[in-house]
Amino acid sequence: MLRVLIIGGIGDAVELAAKVANIPGIEAISSLAGRTREPATPVGNVRIGGFGGVAGLVTYLREMQIDILIDATHPFANQISENAAAATQEVGIPRLMVIRPAWEKLKDDYWLEVENNLAAAAVLANQANRVFLTIGRQEIATFAHLQEIWFLMRMIDPPNADVVVPPGLILCDRGPFSLENEQEILLKYNIDTIVSKNSGGSATYPKIIAARKLGIKVVMVNRPPVPPGEQVADVESAVQWLRGCLKSIRINRDPPNPPYKGGLNSSKSPLERGI
Ligand code: NAP
Repeated sequence: MLRVLIIGGIGDAVELAAKVANIPGIEAISSLAGRTREPATPVGNVRIGGFGGVAGLVTYLREMQIDILIDATHPFANQISENAAAATQEVGIPRLMVIRPAWEKLKDDYWLEVENNLAAAAVLANQANRVFLTIGRQEIATFAHLQEIWFLMRMIDPPNADVVVPPGLILCDRGPFSLENEQEILLKYNIDTIVSKNSGGSATYPKIIAARKLGIKVVMVNRPPVPPGEQVADVESAVQWLRGCLKSIRINRDPPNPPYKGGLNSSKSPLERGI
């Protein structure tokens, strides 16, 4: 039995866990950061919360006798990806990154590409009045000094009480979003600029199509670098990679892994289960 840790937090990781559940000989544990109040929960075993940096992840990998780590986190979650790279190297187990391709700028797109949210805020200062801010809730304070701009801020959960919020309206909603929905929002709120991370994938792409159709400017935040290592572009390729591992990896473990006893339906908390 190969024990796989899927580090997730996005839909691709949920889809991967569902597919891996059907592969005999592989047992998966999905890990969520615990940021979202009602996360989309993967099937099978789930643990929630940070590991405690690289050292904590190394301990976890050893204690849980993880054979393979799959990093299926969001392209902007670079801290956990760096930690996963360092920890798997220290423990000496394989790691695969599932990285969906970034969106490409098309002919009729009007994009201003920037390196981070700070740079996005600097760009807005001179050329936007009504902004659709779709970067999630963690970094909205970066835009709070822009008091002359009205923001429509979309996020899954509202920001914490201590966060300084830019002027405007908070819209709590979760993708996928339809093109119709996105066009309606842009028109209803008279938006002249969208701020978006280049997340890739189809769930949040309709706002980019809507901007193209309506001639609205997009301040596109480019992705942070990923750590070196093996990567695939989609869930199906990750499944194939795992099947290959199952065939080729000889596990010299005596005694073999005991079956995992935790999971969402366990009456014990992740802490009590020691995961
Ligand atoms: P991050 O900056 O890369 O990670 C910060 C810390 O959060 C990590 O050092 C780790 O804590 C913990 N962490 C992150 N993902 C984890 C996971 N799946 N399981 C256990 N611990 C995790 O991450 P982030 O950008 O805050 O994103 C948090 C989560 O939201 C990720 O799972 C990501 O896939 C998801 N997400 C992020 C974005 C985004 O735009 N950043 C968008 C959609 C979804 P320790 O050091 O204590 O281990």
